[in-house]
Amino acid sequence: MTTVSKPPNRRRRTTMLAAAAAFAVAAPLAASAPALADANFPSPNGNTSIASIVTYDDLVAELNRIEKTSRFGVDVTTLAEVGTEVATSEQGRDLYVATVGDGPEAVWLQGRIHGNEPYGTESLLAVLKELGTNGSPDWTLLRETYTFHVIPMYNPDGSEANIRQTILQDGTERRIDLNRDWGAGKFVAAESEAFYEYWTMVDPAFAVDIHHQGLKAEYGTGDDVTLSLGISLAPGGPTLPGIEGGAYDTLTRQMHVHVYDELAKYGSINMDRYQVGGSLEIDIKGGVVSAMMLGFDYKGLNPEGHSNPAIFFETSGNTSDGSLGQKARGKSIHQNVLALTELLVGMATGEVQQEDAARWDEIPHAPVTGYQTDDGVIPATF
Ligand SMILES: [Zn+2]
Repeated sequence: MTTVSKPPNRRRRTTMLAAAAAFAVAAPLAASAPALADANFPSPNGNTSIASIVTYDDLVAELNRIEKTSRFGVDVTTLAEVGTEVATSEQGRDLYVATVGDGPEAVWLQGRIHGNEPYGTESLLAVLKELGTNGSPDWTLLRETYTFHVIPMYNPDGSEANIRQTILQDGTERRIDLNRDWGAGKFVAAESEAFYEYWTMVDPAFAVDIHHQGLKAEYGTGDDVTLSLGISLAPGGPTLPGIEGGAYDTLTRQMHVHVYDELAKYGSINMDRYQVGGSLEIDIKGGVVSAMMLGFDYKGLNPEGHSNPAIFFETSGNTSDGSLGQKARGKSIHQNVLALTELLVGMATGEVQQEDAARWDEIPHAPVTGYQTDDGVIPATF
C-alpha cells in the first residue's frame, strides 16, 4: 500500500487518559491532515541548553520523592539491593529501578541508554508518577494487569557526561555503546551485565525503550518529524519474522499502528517509521531489546530462553548535535508520555492486539532499500 488512509476513530474507552486530556487539541481528529510541527519542536537553531536536563542526582531525588508520595506502592530500588552480581555503572553509580503494579505480567520500560538522549528519563518519571498516584480506571487497569519495572536512566555515566556511551574503567577509557552490548562476545560494560541479569529475573511480557534521533523530515512531505516509531529488529526483515513463529513481527506492527493512530490527533506531533541512512531498516542483534526478542542466553542466566517483544520511540533532537530546543522540552516529553500511555492501555485492553498489522505499511516511511545489520547493509530483497 502506498496511500495513507484516515484511520478510523477506534477509541472505545469513554474516559480520556488524564495525561492526554491536558494536552488535547480542539480538533478531534487531525489524522488525515499532515501534522504541522511547531517551529520550536525541535529547534533547528542549535540553541541547546543542558542546564535543565535531569542529572543523576535529580533522578535519585525525584524517584525518592515519587516513592514517598505515591498512593499505589511505588518501590524504588537499586540493583545492589536486588542483588545482581554486577550492580553499578562503570564509574560506580547505583543503577535504579522503580516498580509499581500488582499485575501478573511484567513490563520493562527503559530510557536514556544513550546518555545524550535525555527525555526518556523525564518521560518515564512522569509515567511512573501517574502509575503511583492516578486512581482513574485506565491507570487502575494498568496496575492490575501489569507489574512495571521502570528504568529511567539506564546509562547514568553517559548521562552525566552528556555522551552516548559509557566509558570503561579498565584503563582503556574505551567508549561502549550500551545498546550494542547485549549479545555473543558482548557484555563488555558493567551496565550491560547488571541490567541483563535483572532482565532474567523479571522475564517481562514486553518492553519499551525511549531514545532520541537527530532532526528529521518526513519522506514525501518534508514536514518535521517529532517522533519516530521503531524497533531494532525490523518487521519483515531478515530476523524478526523468524522469531516465535512471526508473533513478534505481527505485534510490533500492531504496537506501532496503535500508537500512530492514537497520537495522530495531536497537531503538534508528527510521526513516521524509524529508519536509518534515509531508507534502511535497522536490524541489529546486539541492541538490548533485540537480544530480548531473540531470547539471548548469557552465562546460563536465561536457560529457558525467555524472550519478549519490544518497540522504541525516537524523539527528534538530541543534546550533542545542538538540536534540542528549550521550548520543545515539554512537548517532547509529553509526546513520549502520550505514546507510552496509549501503548500500555492499548496492550492492557487488548486493542493493540486487534490492530490490523498490515496497516504498518501506511505509517510514513521512505521506500525500504535495505537492512542495516551488525555486518553491514543487506538489500531489501534478501
Ligand atoms: Zn538512542
